[in-house]
Amino acid sequence: MNPERIVNHFTIDFELPNLPQEAPLVKRERFEERLESQLDALLKAFDKHNVTTTFFVVGELAARHPVLFEKIKEENHEIASHAITHKELSEVKEEEFRKEAMKIKKLLGRVKGFRAPIFSLSQKNSFIIDVLKKNRFLYDSSIVPSVTTEYGAFGAPFKPYRISSANIFKEHATSKFIEFPILTIGFGPFRIPAGGGFFLRLLPIELTELAIKKMNHGGAPATLYAHNWEFDSKLPGVEMNFYRKTVVYYGTGGLNLKRLERLLKGFKFGRMDESPYLK
Ligand SMILES: [Zn+2]
Repeated sequence: MNPERIVNHFTIDFELPNLPQEAPLVKRERFEERLESQLDALLKAFDKHNVTTTFFVVGELAARHPVLFEKIKEENHEIASHAITHKELSEVKEEEFRKEAMKIKKLLGRVKGFRAPIFSLSQKNSFIIDVLKKNRFLYDSSIVPSVTTEYGAFGAPFKPYRISSANIFKEHATSKFIEFPILTIGFGPFRIPAGGGFFLRLLPIELTELAIKKMNHGGAPATLYAHNWEFDSKLPGVEMNFYRKTVVYYGTGGLNLKRLERLLKGFKFGRMDESPYLK
């Protein structure tokens, strides 16, 4: 296939930033008040480039802000799940996650895609895949085939693949459930994430463009992600150490919108539920 015709995915994780425990409650509320303007700026950017995408929405936010949830749907974007709360799932028990999947359906209706908060899908909690399948989900996008300080599943395929709970690091020809791993770029034996978070905010945008091109030339779509709060230049200040401030939380507001628009202009993007991998 002509690499320029491949439809990539620039997904949005719609959530509040994971604030440190010590952040006072009043600050949390101020973050929540920013959601609408963050969403509006994003919807405007996607609309300008005539791109629809997938929003992985935190369930409790959809419940508290039905108007925002409707806005996303009205613009013809796909709603997928980013769990009910933004809690890491590394320690979740199978029974708890079964209940979680039921709640997701109750809150969001039928959704096809899932992304674990903080990419916390591992072999240890791979039952998540089976529970999602039972609840008619068709795909997951929680694998970062690299190692970072926060998450990572080094050794997993870096192109979309048929995943199974038996071994999440391998393609399973008979599985009908698809994994869309986050974009990475290889340097010799190493792979670094190039599709989101700190890497997308602060590394040269040319590196991400190169990673997308490489992926498309290899015949596969690239999956990128960003958080709504990364596009906000008016985030309330929270006291935290330098590492958390730069690597985990803070974006560059308006500059990030420019980066997003540059990518939307330069490549083809679309909703995940319209991917040929799901046909
Ligand atoms: Zn998240």
